[in-house]
Amino acid sequence: MRIYNSMTRQKEELTPLEDNHFKIYVCGPTVYDLFHIGNARAFITFDTLRRYLLWLGYEVSYIQNFTDIDDKVILRAQTEGITTKELADKMIVEYFKDADGLNIMRATMHPRATESIGDIIHLIAMLQDKGYAYTTNDGVYFSIDRYPAYGRLSGHNLDDLIAGASERVSELEGKRNPLDFALWKFKKEGEPFWPSPWGEGRPGWHIECSAMSLANLGETIDIHAGGVDLTFPHHENEIAQSQAATGKPFVRYWVHNGFVNVNYEKMSKSLGNFFTVRDLADRYPYHILRFFILQAHYRMPVNFSDDLLDAAVTSWQRIVSCVDHLDFVAKASEDTETDSVKDQDLAEEIAACRFNWQKAMDDDLNTADAIAALFELIRASNSASASGVVSSKTLLSARDTLIELLGVLGLDPMAKKDGGIPMEILAMAEERLKAKKARDFATADKIRNEILARGYKIEDTPQGVRIIAVD
Ligand SMILES: [Zn+2]
Repeated sequence: MRIYNSMTRQKEELTPLEDNHFKIYVCGPTVYDLFHIGNARAFITFDTLRRYLLWLGYEVSYIQNFTDIDDKVILRAQTEGITTKELADKMIVEYFKDADGLNIMRATMHPRATESIGDIIHLIAMLQDKGYAYTTNDGVYFSIDRYPAYGRLSGHNLDDLIAGASERVSELEGKRNPLDFALWKFKKEGEPFWPSPWGEGRPGWHIECSAMSLANLGETIDIHAGGVDLTFPHHENEIAQSQAATGKPFVRYWVHNGFVNVNYEKMSKSLGNFFTVRDLADRYPYHILRFFILQAHYRMPVNFSDDLLDAAVTSWQRIVSCVDHLDFVAKASEDTETDSVKDQDLAEEIAACRFNWQKAMDDDLNTADAIAALFELIRASNSASASGVVSSKTLLSARDTLIELLGVLGLDPMAKKDGGIPMEILAMAEERLKAKKARDFATADKIRNEILARGYKIEDTPQGVRIIAVD
């Protein structure tokens, strides 16, 4: 597989440093609020990369952190009158609701900045020992003048950046270079703090990711990923401090996803077009949001609008009805004609779909073309099943191919019925199951009837409870 490396600005063959084992770090959310659709794009993109590498047979260690201490977390906690830990705990629960809905696999580890303070302090101490860090009145800073490769990832002109930063006088006090960034911030009144060799305070944002990556994945990792907006200064700073401390290459491939627009404008709080995943999930099922995002190549901008999301609903429906139909036709018909021309045609279409799908995925995770390859097979399958002369075996093979390859994208065309079940019905089904387990069958039956009255049928199967919409 080839992937675009933001550091070298070209597509490169993607191979793990260690035999068959990829180490990936993805910058996670700052847990002061629900996450927005820009975050969702990053999490879905790199979850898909992970799923694809697993499908190719690699082992993948995947770390995604929670930034649970920073200015935004502190401010929001103060507004709500709770501690930063209470806020973070609450928002992490909410994160998993949306992430599970979007079918984003749980990371191998989700380290929290506040639980990694020891690693962070250790890293800052290494930087200080090597002469990269200095102390001012308000904190400990990284000296970018000591690190000549600074700016390589983003390709920014340092003189321009320094001139720009020099105008923000409030950030300058005591700094040797206006671009120097805080490794440790001394405590301010009313803020949470931790003890350190330099004084009580809290970590800067950039050092958190470096420390969590080094501590959990080692000095050199394969892929570090995030939204393109993180390239500068966040990732630039991560490289500087990690490589200055260890003397080793920090990351082999830098991978960044493109921007999210809303109605063809950049999403921003000031424009009033800012959406959390939860906002959209109230109107579109989670799997539609995932499908919609993967219909674009991850480095291209993606535009959210009701028209485009509605179109995604229609496209997804085409996939679901094809899979459903293949399932039905294959199971209902006797397997007689196994060597018709149509049968061979469909078998060839299946092979072509697999080939084109993988070719697209191998080419810088081009999920847009990969999905287009699936639609080719859908077209061929619909025509084959309508002909009535294609064997069940081949129809089922087409169905299984669609399910398998969609599965690698984190999409499940068979889950659509459950996916459309409202939360309150799911909650009632949960209550019924509890009652049943407690052998309170009267209550269980009562809830079952209430659910039925709302248009849903409960079936107890060996695989668990199935909820079906009654037409
Ligand atoms: Zn980060």
